[in-house]
Amino acid sequence: MQEKGTISIHTENIFPIIKKFLYSDNEIFLRELVSNAVDATQKIKRLSSLGQFTGELGNLQVEVAFDAEKKTLTISDPGIGMTAEEIKKYINQIAFSGATEFVEKFKDAKDANELIGKFGLGFYSAFMVADNVEIQTLSYQEGAQPARWICDGSTEFEITEGSRTTRGTDIILHINSESEEFLDKAKLQQILDKYCRFLPVPIKFGTTTETEPDGEDEEGKPKYTTVEVDNIINNPNPIWTKAPADLKDEDYLAFYKELYPFSEDPLFWIHLNVDYPFNLTGVLYFPKVKNDFDIQRNKIKLFSRQVFITDEVKDIVPEFLMLLHGVIDSPDIPLNVSRSFLQADSNVKKINNYITRKVADKLGDLYKKDRKAYEEKWQDIGLFIKYGMVSEEKFYEKAKDFALLVNTKDEYYTMEEYKTKVQTLQTDKDGNLVYLYTNDASKQDSYIQSANRKDYDVLVMNSPIDNHFINQLEQKLEKTSLKRVDADVADKLIAKDDSPAHILTEDQVKIVKDIFDKAIQKPTYKVEVESISPEELPVHVSMDEFMRRMKDMAQMGGGM
Ligand code: ADP
Ligand code: MG
Repeated sequence: MQEKGTISIHTENIFPIIKKFLYSDNEIFLRELVSNAVDATQKIKRLSSLGQFTGELGNLQVEVAFDAEKKTLTISDPGIGMTAEEIKKYINQIAFSGATEFVEKFKDAKDANELIGKFGLGFYSAFMVADNVEIQTLSYQEGAQPARWICDGSTEFEITEGSRTTRGTDIILHINSESEEFLDKAKLQQILDKYCRFLPVPIKFGTTTETEPDGEDEEGKPKYTTVEVDNIINNPNPIWTKAPADLKDEDYLAFYKELYPFSEDPLFWIHLNVDYPFNLTGVLYFPKVKNDFDIQRNKIKLFSRQVFITDEVKDIVPEFLMLLHGVIDSPDIPLNVSRSFLQADSNVKKINNYITRKVADKLGDLYKKDRKAYEEKWQDIGLFIKYGMVSEEKFYEKAKDFALLVNTKDEYYTMEEYKTKVQTLQTDKDGNLVYLYTNDASKQDSYIQSANRKDYDVLVMNSPIDNHFINQLEQKLEKTSLKRVDADVADKLIAKDDSPAHILTEDQVKIVKDIFDKAIQKPTYKVEVESISPEELPVHVSMDEFMRRMKDMAQMGGGM
């Protein structure tokens, strides 16, 4: 069998375009080819479970191997393979995505859309690093003949009889002279770690050694031998693909360590899981931060069906949550497209809102469930929450119920509680509330002391975000201003003693008033009992203004 032909595209040479616009980073060719191999493997599994393939599935494992001498890099899979006809259809017709067609065909089957495909031009990214790309493939279909395709990156291709004897595909790249870095074990390992670490099918890259127990020696001590095993570079079942109900705290913590080996344990996490109106899963962790905004950013990894895409999640995750860590996986986030497109995409906006809401709900839950534990975490999470309240209107509305204010005595109040606490004393004559704060408790200590002596409360507002937070509170809280305790402010505070503090209870007031009312027995006199302080006269007997004037007039002989 031999056939020559021309790839049907309209542009004479599409490869420069692919190189220039589609991918900024040429190492992603490996992601694309391994993803295709994984897809092919998932497809055969799928066909088997649908009863459309009845043969042996065998060891469903993808392999990446290189030969530095021959300058080849080979990606092999035991997937569905392709017939010569299929190569023409799926490979030659650039941008004709076989994956899209497959999903279409099996769209009623539940997990058919677990396929990575959809990127459209993935296969051709191989020409970014290879002079020649060769396919050796054997379709799963009965009586299929092995086929070989080879192309040098021009629009000319060649299909001949192939040599593969088992079901599946080898993609053999003849690496070009500028790309020989991809014939290096460490380099390949690093790229695989980056993009393929959580792909759903085991991926073998070379071998590694393991120590195994091997009976006992003469003295009865356990013996060990070293065995050579496949080096599997990925974890095919990362926790975000599992149901939250099946996971324990240890699982979340272990996964965190897997992602960020040298980090302290996170404070808590949120398992994201939504399939309508968009599909998204993931786990977001609140890390322990040390007031350091910059170092911790960009730690969230974005995946699409377990393929790593980027850790630039700027437009998908709300700005204020960029300090979180973890993973987000969504097949609905458009990939390989420009940033401006991403910003305008409506799914991206919905995802952004969803994440904001989930985070707010989780924080609200933590607050409700265990206030004390929540207060203990406040030093760490307060930063995120204040940042969120300052930057996102929607988040402010939710967070105002669980954001805490802390005073110099280390007491925690919600905004509502705080208002109630200080209302009586810290309201000025116009009815405006005055909150006092310190941004440096040691320097402002004497003013804090003086304010406290007068029974005023002083909040601690000393984190980098607090300046903005104070402004935000002044805008949001009605008739409330925040003042820093300094000499000026502390001096002007009304002392505790100047203000009314009652020394009699309401019942006692009533009893005293009754005694006086009975003794005077004149309805024109009014008895008032004040219970402010022992130095003051407790009882005032007065006459109604009208009655007083009438009486004066009578005394003057006015004749009434
Ligand atoms: P996509 O993966 O988005 O469909 P690609 O350019 O990566 O686009 O691949 C085009 C098509 O070629 C795939 O959809 C699939 O039908 C076929 N293909 C590529 N690699 C393999 C493979 N290893 N095994 C079987 N089919 C493959
Ligand atoms: Mg692909």
